[in-house]
Amino acid sequence: MGGQEIDFVNEAFETNWIAPLGKNVNGFEEDLQKYTGRKHAAVVTTGTAAIHLGLILCGVKPGDEVICQSFTFAATANPIKYQEAQPVFIDSEPETWNMDPVLLEKALRERRDKIKAIVVVHLYGMPAKMESILSIAEKYGVPVIEDSAEALGSSIDGRKCGTFGKISVLSFNGNKIITTSGGGALLSDDEEIVQKARFLSTQARDDAPHYQHSELGYNYRMSNIVAGIGRGQMKVLDERVAARRANHQFYFENLKGAWYKGNGKDFSDNDEMKSGSGIYFLQEPDGYKSNRWLTTILVNPDETDGITREHLRQALEKQNIESRPLWKPMHLQPLYGKSPVYKNGVSEFLFEYGLCLPSGSNLSDEERWRVLNAIKEVLGNS
Ligand SMILES: *Cc1c(COP(=O)(O)O)cnc(C)c1O
Repeated sequence: MGGQEIDFVNEAFETNWIAPLGKNVNGFEEDLQKYTGRKHAAVVTTGTAAIHLGLILCGVKPGDEVICQSFTFAATANPIKYQEAQPVFIDSEPETWNMDPVLLEKALRERRDKIKAIVVVHLYGMPAKMESILSIAEKYGVPVIEDSAEALGSSIDGRKCGTFGKISVLSFNGNKIITTSGGGALLSDDEEIVQKARFLSTQARDDAPHYQHSELGYNYRMSNIVAGIGRGQMKVLDERVAARRANHQFYFENLKGAWYKGNGKDFSDNDEMKSGSGIYFLQEPDGYKSNRWLTTILVNPDETDGITREHLRQALEKQNIESRPLWKPMHLQPLYGKSPVYKNGVSEFLFEYGLCLPSGSNLSDEERWRVLNAIKEVLGNS
């Protein structure tokens, strides 16, 4: 927490606005609009709920197909199943690790009539290739939902993540760049869409003195207490982004890392820029700014005397330091194994060689050195 959250929460208590409406709810929505540049925002209970509402607002119904980035957290894809629709998974390209526009177009060409929406993700805070993705989506007339759950504070040429596509989604879960303990938001430039999201998230009550319902509603609205935490967190968002980026810089410099510039399927294209350490980092393409939510590395065992990312992970664990493999692609998940997939080997490569390092905004310098020394010890170059 940054410190001011408690003042907003206290105000909610003092004024007795505890329900899912009040000054903090409206204030948090305004803060998000102002920060991102989106015209409208509705705050809800979780990012997952916001994706679910986004799909409903794009008209996704049972039996429809929805294109979804495969390399992501399950919460991106699960709401497609809530709607009893079929996810069609798209692999990643190696420059941002997000949805490959070439495979996206192939899928749209082949399945045009069934596809009702596209869900693209900015994984680990790195923006996806939105210019290509949006122009392909427009060509085929399919709406884009931007899962920006990990990318608040990231941007492309100064334009903030959370402003791309028809609908954008943010998350304020406990592990995200800012948190309300749990929470999410749906953003759009279309006021009607955001009004409808508010209506659906408060049980879809018709305008009548009694309780009347013509549509299926949900209890997804954010409470005024939780929104108070969000208002306080907005005041430290830029600091949090700076802290995460500093973590990334620290690891990059001290591990003598190289930028990963391979073809995404092996390390061979990196030959001329071998770092010696065998550790690779994802570079920001020109004009791209990542909030570096998590610092991710790729470990090339050919350059580390056979030390793999799994050796590294287990050695860190022995020292009570948590690290994790990158997201396991959705097309490899037991839950989604039967869904159609357009793949090129990139996300499977990333899953095999990638590791997320400790990346909290509150890591002290001492803690970062402890992580670094543990890594260097395993690599045998401490
Ligand atoms: C966290 C996350 C979500 C879901 O957000 P919640 O607020 O936890 O429901 C969705 N997509 C991605 C990529 C996430 O990291």
